[in-house]
Amino acid sequence: MNDGDPILYRGGLLNPLTPDRWEYHEDGGLLVQDGRIQRAGAFGSFTDIPESRVLELDGVLVPGFVDVHIHWVQHHVRGRFQMDLMEWLREHIWPEEAGFAEAEFARRYAQAFFADTSRAGTTMGMAYSSPHAEALQIAADAAVGDWLLGNSIMERSAPEPLCRASPENVDAIAPLLEALGPSRYVITPRFALNCSAELMKSLGDLARQSGAHVQTHLSESPIEIREVMEAFPEATDYTDIYDRAGLLSPRSVLGHCIHLSERELDCLARRGAWIAHCPSSNEALGSGRMDIESVRRLGIPFALASDVGAGPSHSMLHVMQRFLAQHREAHVPVTVREALYRSTLAGAQCLGRGNEAGDFAPGKRADFVLLPAPERRTSPEDWMEEILAGRQQDLETRPLGTWIRGERKAAA
Ligand SMILES: [Zn+2]
Repeated sequence: MNDGDPILYRGGLLNPLTPDRWEYHEDGGLLVQDGRIQRAGAFGSFTDIPESRVLELDGVLVPGFVDVHIHWVQHHVRGRFQMDLMEWLREHIWPEEAGFAEAEFARRYAQAFFADTSRAGTTMGMAYSSPHAEALQIAADAAVGDWLLGNSIMERSAPEPLCRASPENVDAIAPLLEALGPSRYVITPRFALNCSAELMKSLGDLARQSGAHVQTHLSESPIEIREVMEAFPEATDYTDIYDRAGLLSPRSVLGHCIHLSERELDCLARRGAWIAHCPSSNEALGSGRMDIESVRRLGIPFALASDVGAGPSHSMLHVMQRFLAQHREAHVPVTVREALYRSTLAGAQCLGRGNEAGDFAPGKRADFVLLPAPERRTSPEDWMEEILAGRQQDLETRPLGTWIRGERKAAA
C-alpha cells in the first residue's frame, strides 16, 4: 500500500452529532486518506473500495477525545490530595510547579504526560503550563496531537519563584505567542488573584488583537471567591473582574463556574464564553456541582475537562463517568450521548477546531479511538454505559488504540 492510498477501517462506528443525537453503525466503515476522513457510514455502502484497502478492527470507533482544561505540569501529582482549593494550591501545587524551571525535569514530565493522554484516547486539548517560558516550549515540542498551551501568568499572591518566572507584561508574552502562533498559544491569566486589573486589561487587549484563546479559572470554591472579591472591591462580582478586562469572548474558556449568580451566568451567555466543566475535579476538591440546569437554560456553551491534577485522572472516559454520576445523583437528567458529545465535538468547537476535528464528518482530521466491542448484542447506549463503568485505572487503559491524523499512536 502506498502512503497516499486510502484505508477503510472496518468496525463499529459511533459518531456524536448533538447533545441528544448520535449516529451508530454496528458494522461501519471509516475511509481515511492522507490523515483526513473521506467518508464514514455503514460498511456495506463502501462498494467501491478494494478488499486490500480494508483494515478490520475489533471494536467501536469514536472520535478522539478533547480535554479543554488540564494542567500538564500537575500530571505527576494528580489526585494526590483532597482538601480545599486554596490550601491545595498553596501547600502542594505551587511548590511543585516551581520545579518546571528545570528543563530536564520539564522534558521528562512532558513526555510522560503526552504518552499517558494519547494512550487514554485524548487527541486534542488545551493545557496550562507553569509560568516558565522554556517549559512551555518543551511541552509544545513534545505534544502528541493538537494541543493549545499557555504559561500561567502569576504576577502576585503566589510563591516568589513562580511570580519571578511569570511574564510581567504583554511584551514578555509576545515571543511565545509568535513562536506557537495564535492558534496554539493561549493567553493564561491563571486566575484573578494572581493578576492585577491592569495586567488583565492588557491581556484582554492582546487577546482581541491576536485572535488567541484565553483560559482562566472562575468561581470554583467559596474561599477562593471571598479572597478574589477582597482583592477587587470595585468589581460587582467575580465574573465582572474578567469582563471589565475584556477577557470574555467566544474564545474564552473558563474552568469550573460553579457558584455563579444569575447575573454572572447571563454575562457569560451574552459574551458567548465557554465553560470547561470539570466534574471529577470538582468532586475531588469538594467544590460543588456546576449548575447545569441554568447553563442549559441560558444556552452557555460548555465542554468536559479533566482538570488534572485536581482531577484525579486524565482519562476523558473517567470524566464522562463522573459527569453522569454527579448530575444523576442530583436528579438532573444526563445521557451517555451528551457525555460523548461534550468530550469530542463540543470540545473541538470550544477550541476553535469545530471544522477540523471532533466527529467523523468528511474532510476532518482522522483522529479516532478504538474502544472494546460489546460482548453481546446491545444498544449503543447500554454499551457506552458499560464502557464508562469501572475504576479510574481501568478507564485510563480501556482504549485499544488511538489514531491521530490517521496514524496509530498508542496501542494496548
Ligand atoms: Zn484548573
